[in-house]
Amino acid sequence: MEILKIAIQKSGRLSEKSLELIKEAGISFNNGSRNLVSRASNFPVELLFLRDDDIPQYVTDNVADIGIVGENVVLEKTCKVKIVEKLGFAKCKMSLAIPKSIEFTGSEFFDGKKIATSYPKILSKYLKKNNIKAEIHEISGSVEIAPGIGLADGIFDIVSSGSTLISNRLKEVEVVLNSEAVMIANPQINEAKKQILDKLLFRINSVRTANKNKYILLNAPNKNLEAIINVIPGMKSPTIMPLAEEGWSSVHSVLSEKEFWEVIDQLKELGAQGILVIPIEKMIV
Ligand code: ATP
Ligand code: ZN
Repeated sequence: MEILKIAIQKSGRLSEKSLELIKEAGISFNNGSRNLVSRASNFPVELLFLRDDDIPQYVTDNVADIGIVGENVVLEKTCKVKIVEKLGFAKCKMSLAIPKSIEFTGSEFFDGKKIATSYPKILSKYLKKNNIKAEIHEISGSVEIAPGIGLADGIFDIVSSGSTLISNRLKEVEVVLNSEAVMIANPQINEAKKQILDKLLFRINSVRTANKNKYILLNAPNKNLEAIINVIPGMKSPTIMPLAEEGWSSVHSVLSEKEFWEVIDQLKELGAQGILVIPIEKMIV
């Protein structure tokens, strides 16, 4: 029996969400403690816990078949892996930043300047594309202190809230890349492993679709029933059931959370009562 080997980050920003995604897909692991390798008890997969930077290489070398890693890391490593799914967490930007006190004149500002980064490949691709001739100074950590100590004129780094920039008196001047966690796969995996991967992706997507949607129940006065149904887009058409009380109906439907907040006021105006919004665990579309 084939086993699909999944590489995830051992400890860091991706670890918890990666594990959660797999567990929510109904896959259980007996040993809760984090060994290097963990075999699922009810699905043909095995987890390998690694440093995130190594994951693209391990997937390329068939040590793992698939992996979960930041898109930024995949692009920097230029390995032969395929991005099979964007996962919607660990979102961040990769940006150019310069000291707050210096005026930014446009991307030509960087011509002839020194930029410190731990992502030289992504940066050099960007510079080339925009025809900017800057010197790349590769450092492995604490990139944000480089301008302050006179090592570089600017930096290229991950930005999420921007607080690291502010505390180092820097300002973001150009967003180069938007990144999020992605699932990568070795393009050569055999048919049996591919089938396990498809099953896994199907389950993951069912959970992700469910998380974005809510089950809504409400009581509607019959005179406004049609108007209320028009306000709720629903999956197909909503379910309508008569209430014991004359002149009222119960309406059931599925809405995205975002749509729910948009229509809630209209529903109330149309006399809807007893509105219940319930999380959905899995949703097969
Ligand atoms: P490891 O020890 O496994 O090498 P790391 O320190 O390199 O871990 P983390 O800081 O855990 O990595 O970040 C992992 C990924 O999370 C990044 O590559 C990036 O895709 C994403 N990420 C999201 N927000 C941020 C952020 N504010 N800072 C750094 N990474 C972020
Ligand atoms: Zn890392």
